[in-house]
Amino acid sequence: MINKNFQKLSDSYLFTEILKKTKDKKDAIRMGIGDVTRPLAPVVVEAMQKAVVEMGSAKSFRGYGLEQGYPFLRQAVCGYYARKGVELKDDEAFIGDGAGSDIGNVLDIFSRDNSVLIPDPVYPAYVDNNLMMGHEIFYMNGNADNGFLPMPDQSFSKAKIIYICSPNNPTGAVYSADQLKLWVDYAIANDAVILFDAAYEIFVQDKDLPTSIFQIEGAKKCAIEFSSLSKTAGFTGTRCSYTVVPHELIRDGTPLNKLWKRRQETKFNGLAYIVQRGAEAFFTDEGIKQSKENIAYYMQNAKHISETLQKLGIWHTGGKNAPYIWLKCLDDMTSWEFFDYLLANTNIVGTPGSGFGANGEGFFRLSSFGSKESVCAAMENLTREVN
Ligand code: PLP
Repeated sequence: MINKNFQKLSDSYLFTEILKKTKDKKDAIRMGIGDVTRPLAPVVVEAMQKAVVEMGSAKSFRGYGLEQGYPFLRQAVCGYYARKGVELKDDEAFIGDGAGSDIGNVLDIFSRDNSVLIPDPVYPAYVDNNLMMGHEIFYMNGNADNGFLPMPDQSFSKAKIIYICSPNNPTGAVYSADQLKLWVDYAIANDAVILFDAAYEIFVQDKDLPTSIFQIEGAKKCAIEFSSLSKTAGFTGTRCSYTVVPHELIRDGTPLNKLWKRRQETKFNGLAYIVQRGAEAFFTDEGIKQSKENIAYYMQNAKHISETLQKLGIWHTGGKNAPYIWLKCLDDMTSWEFFDYLLANTNIVGTPGSGFGANGEGFFRLSSFGSKESVCAAMENLTREVN
């Protein structure tokens, strides 16, 4: 009766294991789970408060909204893309309750006999979702030699669904425009579709790096982009994401936009009006400005972590255009050995790199989402231990 594909999943999700190992450590400095800590921007809160009041009055009350999101928010998303030089039609942007959900749900519109190509290391949900669907998975190797940015290779041409995460979770690596162009050309040549995860786009500081795959010529013919206000605007608990399916993306003679719309109409009844009003406020100049103050706060933490590791001679990458720092475990420890060592000797809880794929073994992820004080304390402890 059951979907036997679930038996292929590992028993415990990475973060459940971490919680289990640290549940008695009340004073641990948590730099593991990628959750944000800074509050919502004041304009977002104000907009949601106003929406709550509207919902409390018969005159302005709203019931079911549109499955794809209210036009005001879809237009706001298009406005955000316009700032990046990307022109979108309102009905190419779909509002969802999380990039995590949409990245999994999008598989509904593809045939079950597809093979997929997934980077290693990467956000583990891509693998789990595809295991659940019974898809054949090919992995592309990220490693220190390629800067954790694997490039196209004809050896995986069988895989027609390609995941790209840039900025990458966990490594913080970001593809350049030239590199993404090679991926776009490859996808078009192989009739593949790129599922581009831009959940960390707002952390990109280097003006030359792309923050959307649609900044690359030809991408509308071969890519779907997922993004979210979770890390961008502190919506991890509030929930709001947007998925862009361009009209130009056609496979087997069918526009994928039409399939995704149909899927959402059947399986998703839309995101809360109150949340959509909050999200709309984020997309204003003031909302972006206020939210970017939080991003700057996290990036200051990232800088501090990176500078400390530099001083201690610990190999690492990331932290410049992403909130994650990816480091090599000391003394050739495995990722979990290093986890236990750090916890016992510095009180720091990080994330073992092996939880993000086989190539993550021997590496470790630190997140910059904590408070400045906790990051400073963690770096002091680490310096004391390593020196
Ligand atoms: N994509 C990546 C790469 C992530 O790291 C995360 C969350 O950590 C998500 C997507 C999911 O984000 P959301 O909160 O929008 O579901």
